[in-house]
Amino acid sequence: MKEKTLREIDTEVFSAIRNEIKREKENLLMIASENYASRAVIEAHANVMTNKYAEGYPGARYYGGCEYVDVVENLAIERAKKIFNADHVNVQPHSGSQANMAVYFSVLKPGDLIMGMDLAHGGHLSHGSRVSFSGTLFKSVFYGVSPETERIDFDQIRRIAKEYKPKMIIAGASAYPRQIDFSLFKEIAQEIGAFFMADIAHIAGLIVAGLHPSPVGLAEFVTSTTHKTLRGPRGGIIITEKEYAQKVDKAIFPGIQGGPLMHIIAAKAVAFKEAMSPDFKKYQKQVIINAKVLAEELLRLGFRLVSGGTDNHLILMDLTNKGITGKQAEEVLSKAGIVVNKNSIPFDKRGPKITSGIRIGTPALTTRGLKEDEMKLIAELISKVLSEPDSDQVIKSVKAKIKELCRSFPIYTFLEKEG
Ligand SMILES: *Cc1c(COP(=O)(O)O)cnc(C)c1O
Repeated sequence: MKEKTLREIDTEVFSAIRNEIKREKENLLMIASENYASRAVIEAHANVMTNKYAEGYPGARYYGGCEYVDVVENLAIERAKKIFNADHVNVQPHSGSQANMAVYFSVLKPGDLIMGMDLAHGGHLSHGSRVSFSGTLFKSVFYGVSPETERIDFDQIRRIAKEYKPKMIIAGASAYPRQIDFSLFKEIAQEIGAFFMADIAHIAGLIVAGLHPSPVGLAEFVTSTTHKTLRGPRGGIIITEKEYAQKVDKAIFPGIQGGPLMHIIAAKAVAFKEAMSPDFKKYQKQVIINAKVLAEELLRLGFRLVSGGTDNHLILMDLTNKGITGKQAEEVLSKAGIVVNKNSIPFDKRGPKITSGIRIGTPALTTRGLKEDEMKLIAELISKVLSEPDSDQVIKSVKAKIKELCRSFPIYTFLEKEG
């Protein structure tokens, strides 16, 4: 049988993928939740394990022929346990949202009350938002940041927790530029007898590198994505204490998922191996340094940053004083080759489709090798574009500079020759 190539079968999908490769190479990817997975990770998940049904867990499957997928799932589990210093890890969640869903279903009943961070203050949809399963199947209350410091308001958390007695308190955010004190969350959860879940989707890489305090050992449940700072394939994991291991495993399968994505789990195993290396720690350090330098430069150029700066991999810019909305900023920066996302800021007067802010992150650029000098240049370019958003001339000149910058920091060169 002569097997046809993708290009021969489907030129439309083939060329969309080629265009995406080009886009990722020729633009500054500054969406804080994105990264460039390594060549090894990309290779590992483009494989025939996508064919394999493996419902169940290693050594206890509902299908034959699982000997090799068992190898990769066991490797993924053992490596994840090691890097997170954990008792038990489930590596099967298809995504971060699925990981959270499984945790809720493991110890809560529909209609129970959960407490998470307000979406508009940096929280995630899956922490109780009305438009997510988490807010329709469960009741929810929210905490946020204080209007003065724009940092998590633990007095408010304690007050709301005592008044409403949620069954579970959720820590973790998608747009919070500061360190999160998981021990204070634990204290409050203990005071009211609630479960404590920490969702480290954004900061998992920093935690593995020892650059952010870990909630493992404090929270009964820790969930994460694998594709953000952790730099693996798109997916999720759940870390839990021995006591809840069986409940969590059952909540994933057969609770909310069928067959695991074994090709993705293979790539997760590779990413966890990469996360053990000294290079990974060096990388995460640079991610934070880059974010700090970028923040300092933006402040110097007259921008207001939510909470005044950053401790981690991301910056939340408030554009109110610049007379431009988040939506406009996202659009004009994208024209110039800087890809960011509009983002609500705490107490935003504009709705989520317009917003007053943008969120920018350094994980992907740091993977490409950009350092402090480049961050200073990028801050200047961002400032130029946002100061004159209607000038095609400015966009054109910035775009040219960014193309040059991208050429000096090549990525995915191994993808150049094919087709
Ligand atoms: C990204 C993110 C998720 C969800 O991840 P998906 O894989 O997109 O479902 C969950 N929680 C937080 C805090 C996140 O930032």
